This record gives sequence, C-alpha cells and structure tokens, in this order.
Amino acid sequence: MELARFISAYYICSLGDAFSLMMAFIHSYPKHETESQKSESLPESKIELSSKQTKALEFLKEQKVGLLFGDTGSGKTEIYMKYFEQMMLEKKRSIFLMPEISLTPQMGLRLDEHFGESVVMWHSKLTPKQKKIALQKIHDGRAKIIAGPRSALFLPIKDLGLIVVDEEHDDSYKSSSRPRYNARDLAIYLGKLYNINVVLGSATPSLTSYVKFPHIRLKGGHFNSKKEFIYEKSVETLSPLILEYINRTLELKEQSIVFLPTRANFKYLICKDCGHTYECVFCSVGMSIHQNSRALKCHYCNYTQAIPQICCECQSPNLTSSRLGTAEAVKNIAQTFPSAVVEQFDRDVITTATKLKKALKRFNDKESDILVGTQMLSKGHDYHGVTLAVVLGMDNMLNMGDYRAREKALSSLIQVSGRSGRLKDAKVLVQSFNEEFFKAYIDRYEEFLEQEKEFREGLYPPYKRLCRVLFSDKNGAKAREAMQKMHDNLVDYAHVEIVGYGKCAVERVANKYRFEILLRSDKSTELIKAIKATKVILAEIDMDPIEFS
Ligand SMILES: [Zn+2]
Ligand SMILES: [Zn+2]
Repeated sequence: MELARFISAYYICSLGDAFSLMMAFIHSYPKHETESQKSESLPESKIELSSKQTKALEFLKEQKVGLLFGDTGSGKTEIYMKYFEQMMLEKKRSIFLMPEISLTPQMGLRLDEHFGESVVMWHSKLTPKQKKIALQKIHDGRAKIIAGPRSALFLPIKDLGLIVVDEEHDDSYKSSSRPRYNARDLAIYLGKLYNINVVLGSATPSLTSYVKFPHIRLKGGHFNSKKEFIYEKSVETLSPLILEYINRTLELKEQSIVFLPTRANFKYLICKDCGHTYECVFCSVGMSIHQNSRALKCHYCNYTQAIPQICCECQSPNLTSSRLGTAEAVKNIAQTFPSAVVEQFDRDVITTATKLKKALKRFNDKESDILVGTQMLSKGHDYHGVTLAVVLGMDNMLNMGDYRAREKALSSLIQVSGRSGRLKDAKVLVQSFNEEFFKAYIDRYEEFLEQEKEFREGLYPPYKRLCRVLFSDKNGAKAREAMQKMHDNLVDYAHVEIVGYGKCAVERVANKYRFEILLRSDKSTELIKAIKATKVILAEIDMDPIEFS
C-alpha cells in the first residue's frame, strides 16, 4: 500500500495505475497456504571470494545503498551470490533485479546450479503454468532468491532482507508506459521502507548513482587477454577497412561481432568528411532533422535552424543523415563473404528465449561466424571465441538529442568491447570521428564520470530534476490546446523552469498527434507541486524521463 501510494504521488498517476503493477499477480495467486518449510537445507557454499571481493562485500554490507562499480569479469556475480547465501542463513529473502532475465540465460544457469530449488526466475516469457509454480514457491517460502526484471519488485515477498539491482545503468529499468516508474529508484525507496540494504552493480554506473551513493571499485577482469582499439573516421557504413578486418578474421577461422546502435527515431546531420554534428546552443544536446519543415530542431527547447547545405567546420557539401539497419548490414556482409555464416542478433529476429539460446549455442559451437546486432549483443553473454568486435556508428549515439548521450555511447562501447577477447587477444574496431573522447575514457570510466559532473551541473540530473509532460490525441488541435493550457498555468510557478514545449520529435504515434512540455527544477517536490496544480486531462507525466522522442 505504501509503495503504491509513493508511486502515485511521485510519478503523478492514479492509485489505480500504481496498483495495476501489483494486481496482475492476484489472479494466479494460490488461495491456501500449503505446508512448507520442510527442507530448509542450505547449499554448501562453493563460492570462494578473493580478498578484493571479500572487501567489497564487507563494504556493501555497511551501506544502506552501496554501488558496486566493477569491471566486466571482475566477479560481481560471486559477490551477489555470497550475499544471497548470507541472507539465507539469516532466513531472509533477496530480490535480484536484472534488465531482462530471459536475455541472460547464462546468469539463470549459474543461479540454478548454485541455489537450485531456492531460486525463482521471474520473467515475461514464463508460461501461465510456470508463473503459477513460481508464485506458489514465493508464497510458501521455498523461494529465497527471486530473480527477474523490474516487475519482480512487485512480487509479494515475505521477510525481505536485500535487493540487488544488477546493471543499474540499464534503461530498461524505466517503464515507458504509465506509470512511468524507474525500478532502480523504487528499489531504493523499498529498501528505505523496509530498512534493508540495496546493492547497485555495474561496470559503467550511471552518473546519478555514482554521485548519490558510496561506491567500491573492483578493477580488471580475470581474462588476461589483450585488447587493441582501432579507430576509423567514417560515418555509419561498412567501410573497406571494416570488411578487410572481417575478412582477416574469417581467414583465421575466428569469430566477429558487429555492433550497431539501436536505431533511434531521430535523424542527425553529420559531415562525412570531418564528422561535425550540430548541437543546440542552449541545451548542448544534438539536434535532429525535421523533414517537413526542412529544419534542424532541438527537442529540449525547440530551438530551430535551417538545414545547412555545407559543413560549417570544413565547408564540405557531404552532409548526411543516413543510417545502417541491422538487416541491411547482415545482407551486405553475407554478400561480400558468401561462405561465411552471418546471423542477425536483435529484437526483430531473437524474439524468444529459446531463439536466443539457440543462436548463442550456434555461435559458441562455431557454427556461425559473425553476429550482427544491437544492444542485445552486449547483454552479459559470453562469446569465448570472439577476436574482432566492430562497433559501427558510435557518433550517432554520441550526438543524440539526449543529455545522457555521452554516458550511453561510452558505456555501450565498454560493454561491447568487454564481450570480445575472453580467451584470445582481440581487436576492437570503432567507427568514430571522436577517437580522443573514447580513447581518453575507455579504461577510465570514473574519470569520465568526474568530467561529466561538470557538464551536467546546473542543467541536468542528478543536479536538476526533469519532467516531461506528454499530450497525445487523434485530434491534433485538441492535443496542442491541452499543452498550451497547461503551459499557461505553469508560467506562474517560479521554481519550475519551462525548458521548451511544442511538437514531440516523433510527431505521430498510432494515429495520435503528440505534444510535450519539458520542465526543470532544483527539486522534484517543486515539480510535483506545480504539475498537480496545473495538470489537464490529456497530460501524461514522465518524471525523470530518459526518452525524449
Ligand atoms: Zn565537415
Ligand atoms: Zn535546446
């Protein structure tokens, strides 16, 4: 009840919306409590922590909210598992949040092997029957560790002792439909409510967590292989250099992964010759192309300028906004190397957990040579034979109209390159005009975070709070009117700044016209107060937004 009340107050939605997160479980909830707790057997601990890991665990136990800032392969999972074991000894249960558990079969396997019957995997791909069994185990107390994506936070768990949020930087913790909560932030709230510890873990923590919570740093993986980074100044295409590297890898009978950033709804203008891109002078974020009005537009403040004909840096006329899709890249690579087996690895093709497992097995059994995919490639899979990672179009990520663009681009590169060279030395080929940026921080993420603090100060979270208000309707005039009305009401609130308002970057979705207002304030309480007093019927509130399309 208290959690629902908090969600309703903070994310500004009805109590009904907040309860809808929890209602889903009532239907399949078993009616009677069964006899239980017969076998309270604990697993014999096979987890041996190094002295560094032990120190990290001791540190985390002392914090209400602690950040485990550990490189890929530095042994974060063992630390969590040891902590879960200790909770079991105290007869407490743990929640283990992961971005999407069905996408990380390896983690599931590890938990299963170690904790067996004591672990419940909760995810969207469970069948109704599997769901029922999982709920039964939670209900009668056999489940000691409940692992799952953000929805696992709302399961009815007794004697909760610990919440671990793995990959805490991951965007999938934020819901993109009403109520637009962030599960990481709610985990922290829940920890406070129950007075239990919360552990946030990541190799590339968000600036917000890094600034707010004490951290312990675990460096270096247990892979001794070396990685060589090569940078190529070109826009998002399969350049001759990239094809040459893929060819060499094929000749050595080794494997490659090719990473493409997820296609955003924005299109950006970039100079093919010098890599120059266009930023809003007021917001320091990338501007996107608006075809209808032939203009570049900032979607934070609505600042607009005509699409330039020549690059303002090098005077080249070769300005482009073209981007490469995964399917297209697969086709091109397969045509160039007819004897190679190339697989597409993204949400369009890998639609089920089974398909994912099979694709990974084929790749690890060396039945396929090249995986081409988006962010899914970097989600904690272990490709032991990869000696070449190609990272395409990094500049597109770096220049997104998003205040977290740098954080997202750098962390993606670190996560992808962490997937290669596990057994043998590997090459990471990065397509970018911003070699200096990536080179400076690829092995020094904490230095990047320190630098990023300066950029965010006074403008963006965690120093300022943002809220996006969306208005959508089949009748565009109606949506615009609603926006205008709320805007006019908001003007009176001195502590809330209206950053910008107007059409959304994506003007129409599902036949509905979309408008928005972006608000900024020092305090979320000020935002909540102003919004509650000025809210109009069509307004949908997105507190702490991470999506700006
Ligand atoms: Zn140029
Ligand atoms: Zn702007």
